[in-house]
Amino acid sequence: MNTDSQNDYVAALTDLHRGLERQGPGDSDFSRHILSHLPTLPPKPRIADLGCGSGAGALLLAQYYQSPVMAVDSSSVFIEELKARAKLAAGLEHLIIPIQGDMAELDWPVGSLDLLWSEGAAYNLGFEQALKIWRPLLANSAIAVISEMSWFADDVPEPARTYWQNAYPTMGTEAENLARARRSGFSLLSTHRLPAQAWWVNYYDPLRERMRQMEITPRIQSVIRETEEEMRLFAKFSDFYGYTFYVLQAA
Ligand code: SAH
Repeated sequence: MNTDSQNDYVAALTDLHRGLERQGPGDSDFSRHILSHLPTLPPKPRIADLGCGSGAGALLLAQYYQSPVMAVDSSSVFIEELKARAKLAAGLEHLIIPIQGDMAELDWPVGSLDLLWSEGAAYNLGFEQALKIWRPLLANSAIAVISEMSWFADDVPEPARTYWQNAYPTMGTEAENLARARRSGFSLLSTHRLPAQAWWVNYYDPLRERMRQMEITPRIQSVIRETEEEMRLFAKFSDFYGYTFYVLQAA
């Protein structure tokens, strides 16, 4: 893709995800379950949600810890949506620090985070690249919770393998991702697979509704077709891949 068509593609994808609670698969109860099993964070924890979208994770973290959350996303559309949501959420506005920027280019001091959260976003940098770039930001023994598309099996049926090999060539098995995490200076605390049901209820169903209602331009049409293909595959093959949440500790 040249830069223009890449920008067009991102604009269409952004348009598709406008007004949704999530821009990727996730689930609040599932997230709270993970948080409830994390080691205790220090007092006044320094928390960031990277690739926050309109803030599903950031808002949950702010509420859960009653602490400020630096919420970073490159999209001004989603950052504005996050600001509006924070205003509506009782008592959270002052805890959300929205930052429009590149999560690969953060100029924060070394060791300045106690909890790094990133849902459905690391793949934009590549999982290993994201881990390597983010590791220096973490304080000693800080925690990173990062969700990443992962293969759940070695014998993945051909249609799913072909689609994802094209869409995300470096997508790894959980064992591969674990090895990437270790190489990048993390130890593993736990992994959690997001249930397939959460993909449908919290992401694909609202996305499908949005696709029905939005104005269809040729540019949007091609992104919609691709998304429908992605949904068809997930309906058939969700036993073979999905989002794994890697709970990591700076080693
Ligand atoms: N975490 C949110 C959004 C996931 S979608 C949720 O789970 O709902 C991925 C997000 O990553 C998008 O909002 C996109 O704008 C953002 N993104 C992609 N590349 C980025 C980059 N280099 N820096 C910051 N944000 C980025």
